Amino acid sequence: MNVERGAGVAAGFADEAYAAAGALLVEDAWVDADVVAKVAKPTAEETRRLTRETILIAFLQPLTDREGVDGLAAAGVTAFAMESIPRITRAQSMDALSSQATVAGYKAALIAADRLPRFLPMLTTAAGTIAPAKVLVLGAGVAGLQAIATARRLGGVVSGFDVRPATREQVLSLGASFLDLGIVGDETEGGYARELTPEEQTRQQEALEQRIPEFDAVITTAAVPGRPAPKLIPASAVEKMRLGSVIVDVAAETGGNCELTRPGDVVEEHGVTIVGPLNLPSTMPFHASQLFARNVASLLAHLAPNGEVVLDWDDEITSGTCVTRREVAA
Ligand code: NAD
Repeated sequence: MNVERGAGVAAGFADEAYAAAGALLVEDAWVDADVVAKVAKPTAEETRRLTRETILIAFLQPLTDREGVDGLAAAGVTAFAMESIPRITRAQSMDALSSQATVAGYKAALIAADRLPRFLPMLTTAAGTIAPAKVLVLGAGVAGLQAIATARRLGGVVSGFDVRPATREQVLSLGASFLDLGIVGDETEGGYARELTPEEQTRQQEALEQRIPEFDAVITTAAVPGRPAPKLIPASAVEKMRLGSVIVDVAAETGGNCELTRPGDVVEEHGVTIVGPLNLPSTMPFHASQLFARNVASLLAHLAPNGEVVLDWDDEITSGTCVTRREVAA
């Protein structure tokens, strides 16, 4: 096992720890590797270094990066996308979207608490009683549920909303309330939300505009795979929020759930702070890396059960996760 020298330092993992675990520290981990595992998709230069014999494992953005996937296909690389791990019980330990969304949801709640000019919990002090902050979480997938749990632990009064009917019970089980907006969407086979029709989207925006002024902080995590983030909060809704309110838009990477979000930036509009963070997991690199490494190790153990790569294309995890593969002559 080759590990690039210094690969883990920024995340708090020293080279010595890899050496102690039996890895060989090298300047260039790509040389002679049968399997290359990395976090982000390879650059064009890195793709040129992959051979037809190499297996690549990384986040490859298979639904949105056509050019990158075509490049891998042209190079004849057998590539596995961490985004494409099927969401089935057997593959849970490999599910990197979930592990990284857990980090993002947790961090989003901390950012909301940090940016708010008020306490989250109720406090009884000699100088008077402080009412708890009200937090709304839009999108109750993995990130949203973690944001709900974290904001609750910090003492906020939390409500959640999602278009998938199954989420109501999950939101309630965390001790939050479910915000009824009168919009119910469908769940696709993979457990994801179907994109709302333009008419449903307008109704959702109007309903939210009515309810949003009740909340001090809104954390948005709504997403539909392969699509730009649905716009849930129009500028007119931000205008109605109280001064000092905060929006943390976890969907900033795919354009944002709020019309006024500037991805990668913090803006103040109508007295409301709107945070559009990019790559939240990288802001908590220790645990984000540890979880991602376990996901990759678990996929590797599946692809190479006895240390030898054996690709069984009839297996749902192997075939579902593979995005490009080498043609083998019959
Ligand atoms: P995601 O990141 O694709 O989307 C986040 C949430 O946004 C989803 O809950 C989605 O329903 C919601 N959303 C989409 N459009 C919306 C809108 N207009 N308004 C409000 N909310 C909207 O989803 P995810 O967090 O990756 O999880 C999706 C599903 O997969 C969930 O059902 C989750 O429980 C399931 N899951 C299953 C497994 C497993 O069985 N192994 C593992 C992880 C996740």
